Amino acid sequence: MPIIGIDLGTTNSLAAYFTPEGPKIIPNSFGEHLTPSVVSVGDDGEILTGKIAAERRFTSPQKTASVFKRYMGTKKEYKLGDKTFLPEELSAFLIKKLKEDAEVFLGEEITEAVISCPAYFSEAQRRATKTAGELAGLKVDRIVSEPTAAAIAYGLHEKEESAKYLIFDLGGGTFDVSILEFTRNIMEVRAVAGDNYLGGEDFNDILIAAFLRHNDLKESDLTEREEAAVYKASEYAKLHFSKNHFIAMQAVVGGETKSTEFTADEFEVYCQPLLLRLKNPVVRALSDASVRMADISAVVLVGGATKLSIVRAFVGKLFGMLPASVINPDEAVALGAAVQAAMKERNTAIKELLLTDVCSYTLGVEVANVRSGGLIQTGLYSPIIERNTVIPTSRVERYYTMHNQQKQVEINVFQGESRNTRDNIFLGNLNIPVPLGPAGAEAVDVRFTYDVNGILEVEVTTVSTGEMAKIIIEKNPGTMTQREIEESFAQLSALKIHPRDRDEYRYLLEMGERLYQEHMGDERGMIADALAEFEEVLDKQNRGEIDAYVTRLREFFESLEGS
Ligand code: ADP
Ligand code: MG
Repeated sequence: MPIIGIDLGTTNSLAAYFTPEGPKIIPNSFGEHLTPSVVSVGDDGEILTGKIAAERRFTSPQKTASVFKRYMGTKKEYKLGDKTFLPEELSAFLIKKLKEDAEVFLGEEITEAVISCPAYFSEAQRRATKTAGELAGLKVDRIVSEPTAAAIAYGLHEKEESAKYLIFDLGGGTFDVSILEFTRNIMEVRAVAGDNYLGGEDFNDILIAAFLRHNDLKESDLTEREEAAVYKASEYAKLHFSKNHFIAMQAVVGGETKSTEFTADEFEVYCQPLLLRLKNPVVRALSDASVRMADISAVVLVGGATKLSIVRAFVGKLFGMLPASVINPDEAVALGAAVQAAMKERNTAIKELLLTDVCSYTLGVEVANVRSGGLIQTGLYSPIIERNTVIPTSRVERYYTMHNQQKQVEINVFQGESRNTRDNIFLGNLNIPVPLGPAGAEAVDVRFTYDVNGILEVEVTTVSTGEMAKIIIEKNPGTMTQREIEESFAQLSALKIHPRDRDEYRYLLEMGERLYQEHMGDERGMIADALAEFEEVLDKQNRGEIDAYVTRLREFFESLEGS
């Protein structure tokens, strides 16, 4: 019974196993390596995952969840239809699917896995990752950091001499730079830096902006359907980008086919601000680890977005060396996790020293802002302790009253990275009285003290009176207790999961639904007819007839994708 390695990604997840020739990726029910990290509840109440669920992001956004990895280890609840899930429960559905796909592919039961998580994940987030595996029915003894797994995939742990490596991981919506140091069987994560809101998606935004600009359009001019069409054109352009060709984008807007074409050099100019944003965390990680660029023995590229030649060229220039990329960058982490799994079976392991003395989230308070027209904008986030700050730490910020004759100041404490507090996690609040006066005349000092046990102390002092109020927030109220895990396991097991052998049919139905919503007129009618006919064919349950129809339907839908 092999132990599998799982890369539970923000955008894509995948599994790998170990063979005598080295680690290999396990294909999913579509024969593909990547399973989108998306979960949806079908209108029939069934749990859908991966590519099928991804189709429903557009047609059933209320019942579909993605990027939930960002909230792993918190109590953030996702309401999908009439069901509510925690991030580890949504992750469990994905892991369950990877497990099932692995069982069919390998022809045996899988009971154990090594799962990877970002190097900056705290103890509680690692525990949540482990819980996700357990909820999927897997034993998870070992959690491996993603950069460590990528380094192992490259065999960097097999080198004799000690060395320092930089792992450059640009995924769908996150960017992580890690400095690893390997000596005598210990892979130490020396520093991590990154940007939780930077990834492949930002290149789509650049392409979309160029398309709009070249066609004298504004984003607000587009209908939802047109926006989806432009996005699709950007994804196509991004994936087919090559240094020697023009980048062409085409989409129907306002009933007209709009297009644009530009050169790779122009694209590079458009990408400059993004490339600059990639540089900062690299510099910061090196300086945090007190390592000079010249001391880095190898730079390893990880994450789908590093396939962009623009990114590769940028990294090459930055380090003055070619980055290692013989392994498919979106597969390196899963392959490394599979090597770890094989080592576990043989009872050997690379010891991993983790960097745990940083605060892995930004902590801050809610503020309001007065715009130039006098309009008050509420619900804004003001960070006090930034993510990755070395702990223990203590920081103070001063805030002023907003209204004339304001009696008190309310401090709402949040954790997260978003500019809007509604997208961050509420941790607690307190009120403090202030003397009456004109707006802006009174101030409070808010001190955040964060210790190594993850306990946050918030102390608020009214500057003019010295009056003080304090709350203590136990970090990670989000981790599940053993009892909660058992209850959740029972609940999840009772849910109906979409049967694997019907994945292909269901995918075509969901895709058809989306295409129906995207198109109009004759095409719409043809899609409706095809879907109705397909449903009839499915009802007859004749395998040969179904397969023949599936092929035709797929071709028809694919012909519509570009139109
Ligand atoms: P994550 O680690 O966040 O789960 P991945 O490593 O799978 O994500 O990376 C996903 C991102 O990589 C997406 O933005 C996707 O568009 C991008 N991507 C995948 N393949 C390519 C490619 N050939 N060229 C450019 N971008 C790509
Ligand atoms: Mg990843």
